[in-house]
Amino acid sequence: MIENTPPRQLAVRLPPHPDELLSSWISRHAAFYAVPPLVMLRHCLPEASSLRAADLQLSSDQEIRLASMFATEPAVINRMIFGNISQSSHRLIAVRPTQICTNCSSQHGEPAPILRSQLLGWRLTCPLCATPLSDPGGREHPSPFRQYCRAALYGEKLLDDEAERGIATWTSLGFS
Ligand SMILES: [Zn+2]
Repeated sequence: MIENTPPRQLAVRLPPHPDELLSSWISRHAAFYAVPPLVMLRHCLPEASSLRAADLQLSSDQEIRLASMFATEPAVINRMIFGNISQSSHRLIAVRPTQICTNCSSQHGEPAPILRSQLLGWRLTCPLCATPLSDPGGREHPSPFRQYCRAALYGEKLLDDEAERGIATWTSLGFS
């Protein structure tokens, strides 16, 4: 049973990066306070099983409690997780970062912030700046599929619309 008393606000709050993943934000605070990330999460949500589970789904009550601890709005917490993505698309969400936007990802600080798009298997480009994503080390390799670039970007949009916004344009194309 969740207690009704909201957790105390953190004395020091690190600003989130645009498109930062909730577990990344929690991990950066955990590093600051020198506690394990799961301890930081459970300080607020004692029932939480893992950071990954929190990234995938939170109840509105849990979002309110986290927002209270981080002195922000529940909508901000909601945008940092994959709660809008249907269960069927969860298999396309990596456990660890598989790509990086060399333009938007900050390499400053330890741990470095992880952006939501770094885990999304269908993303070819950064949702913030549209730069093509690179491998996690930031190296850019010439794509063997360069001649399909336009089709690939269209595919990315189709998948993104369905996964992020529930717009299933696939069905009208007969791919369902
Ligand atoms: Zn970017």
